[in-house]
Amino acid sequence: MTYQPLKGQKALVTGASSGIGAGVAMALAAAGADVVVNYASSAAGAEKVVGQITALGRKALAIKADVSREDEVGAMFKQMFAAWGTLDILVNNAGLQQDSAFVDMTLEQWNKVIGINLTGMFLCSSLAVKEFIRRGINAEVSRAAGKIICMSSVHEVIPWAGHVNYAASKGGVKLLMQSLAQELAPQKIRINSVAPGAIQTPINRAAWETPEALSSLLTLIPYGRIGLPEDIGKAVVWLASDDSDYVSGQTLFVDGGMTLYPEFARGG
Ligand code: NAD
Repeated sequence: MTYQPLKGQKALVTGASSGIGAGVAMALAAAGADVVVNYASSAAGAEKVVGQITALGRKALAIKADVSREDEVGAMFKQMFAAWGTLDILVNNAGLQQDSAFVDMTLEQWNKVIGINLTGMFLCSSLAVKEFIRRGINAEVSRAAGKIICMSSVHEVIPWAGHVNYAASKGGVKLLMQSLAQELAPQKIRINSVAPGAIQTPINRAAWETPEALSSLLTLIPYGRIGLPEDIGKAVVWLASDDSDYVSGQTLFVDGGMTLYPEFARGG
């Protein structure tokens, strides 16, 4: 029997029909949680993840919602509570890029990225926190009244030319997460972030799909390999479990050393 620190807990993972979100949903289920698999458009992707979770003997439910829309987020939480009654773990994972040189960036590109990557976290966290406060601690499953894990990025600290909307959204996630953690710690709600480096998913396909692109990417990663969704899943399970009960307001960088200024290893 594998270690199941999340046994009996209910989790919601946004943007869980692909990439990191799918890996996180699977890791939470393997650790004992039942998981709501939120998706924006790929019902087939979400149903595949639901199938993999139920094959592990856990419950899973796919729910469609655009996290940047208050009405759709509200309907998703309503459906989740109707099915499962409560929530213990929220993983704010949904995110996207709309890249452009700054001089050509449109307000639409700016608003889209901020709306999903940052406002989406506000909307989902708001409803999760209301439920954590209503229910309080269920000591049978956790020492905390609730846990939120935000999917940030190394770009919460590394500036990124050609991606100012994305970097601004992740910089915003950093202080959203820390301010929420400060405000809600007295209610025994823990909020933390995971900041992935380069993880092999659809969002950054151009950076790994040819040998030339991969070799250029690897110059930025001291540990010498691209990350996988399961690398992130393991970090999220730890932050969601009581093994990290004294950890709040932190960003855990899971990046193979990308934030270690790798160019300085060759001089400076
Ligand atoms: P991905 O494109 O596979 O996953 C993003 C998911 O978000 C998709 O399933 C997509 O459908 C969903 N999504 C997009 N808009 C949505 C909306 N409005 N409502 C609900 N869901 C929506 O890419 P990924 O790499 O798995 O990205 C997941 C998260 O990890 C993102 O927040 C991303 O910024 C972050 N991240 C990824 C990397 C990486 O190297 N892959 C690095 C750092 C951070």
